[in-house]
Amino acid sequence: MLLRSRILIPMAAPPLEDGAVLVSGDRIVAVGSWRDMRGHFTGPAVDLGDVAVLPGLINTHCHLDYTGFAEHLPPPRSFSAWIQGVLALKAEWSFTEYAVSWLAGVRQLLRSGCTTVLDIESVPELLPDAWTSTPLRVISALEMTGVRASADPAAILGSALKVQESLRHPRCQVALSPHAPYSTRSDLLSLVIGAARQRGLLVTIHVAESDEEFQMFQHARGPMYDWLKPQRDPSDCGHRTPMAHVAASGLLGATTIVAHANYLEPADVELLAAAGSVVVHCPQSHDYFGHAPFPFDRLRAAGVPVCLGTDSLMSVRKLGRPTLALDLFDELQLFGRNHPSVSPVERLAMVTTHAAQAIGRGSELGALRAGAMADLIAVPMDGPLARAVEAVTFHRGPVPVSMIGGEWGIAPNGQVDV
Ligand SMILES: [Zn+2]
Repeated sequence: MLLRSRILIPMAAPPLEDGAVLVSGDRIVAVGSWRDMRGHFTGPAVDLGDVAVLPGLINTHCHLDYTGFAEHLPPPRSFSAWIQGVLALKAEWSFTEYAVSWLAGVRQLLRSGCTTVLDIESVPELLPDAWTSTPLRVISALEMTGVRASADPAAILGSALKVQESLRHPRCQVALSPHAPYSTRSDLLSLVIGAARQRGLLVTIHVAESDEEFQMFQHARGPMYDWLKPQRDPSDCGHRTPMAHVAASGLLGATTIVAHANYLEPADVELLAAAGSVVVHCPQSHDYFGHAPFPFDRLRAAGVPVCLGTDSLMSVRKLGRPTLALDLFDELQLFGRNHPSVSPVERLAMVTTHAAQAIGRGSELGALRAGAMADLIAVPMDGPLARAVEAVTFHRGPVPVSMIGGEWGIAPNGQVDV
């Protein structure tokens, strides 16, 4: 199939006018100008019209399980109070409610141009049925917690690995997610990275998200320290930053994606850079909690790649919108407002090329090039070529077209294939 669009933004090459993408099976065969490619191809062609075609977006931090919890919690007094609110809500929910929530989340992501998501999965029983119910590529990072001395880290990891061994899917895969340094013991972190390297699995973890977490590890004080002290051996607190704590466990590395990283000492940035880890920033979630400014410039200067994620709808403010939905374009726009010096191309790379590299699929996803998976979206486009990338980053509303692995996720007639 040959797809034609007024503008083509391959990301692997400069944008071009009157572009074409040749798709065969689940892969892209060629990318170029319509005029050059039409003459060499006699099969079916689809003219997508006045749109820009670009790689499908990659969301590197999400909690699909919690989509249905949107607006369930009042604005947080403190981060620890928010976590306790989440735990209370989670205890009330049934399996069916989680399943409905998960499905609502993937539908929202599909409509808003996402084709791949790295999702934290706290209800692994949803898999693999949930995977087969969506055309999205889902990387389900199995969440692990455990702060009490009686919770054996080897047993916690063992049950996650059992789930991982039982799941095989052509489009979806498993990763590992020890939740955060404050909700785990450091011996779990060391065990996880050992198992992940042995099995070739991605790891993702929340680190240095809140000032309370920073205070807990660096100074053994603050609301999080006081809350967790009765449940958690506090002997690892009061010595170093959360990032240094995670680094000491060996968890940082090129296959580790660190979510948030809002509170970093200069040495923490160096640890991330030396380890080759990637950071995921979630602009709306960052805004919801009112964190200190995200240290994007320091991370970029040190060579630490930064991607964007939606986090869950539990930590997004409504801000006059009629409904809340997971949407990477919203994240791109808020990031652009907070970091106006970052170019549109660099912003778009945070949800395409950089994100694909972060999940270890840089040669297959995140860019339109020969040999890559045929994962692409279209957004309406009537402006000039020179402003096309910038215009894409300002897109609002559902995308009219989405293709994942050569199959329509949203067919050009507007039907969503879910
Ligand atoms: Zn998260």
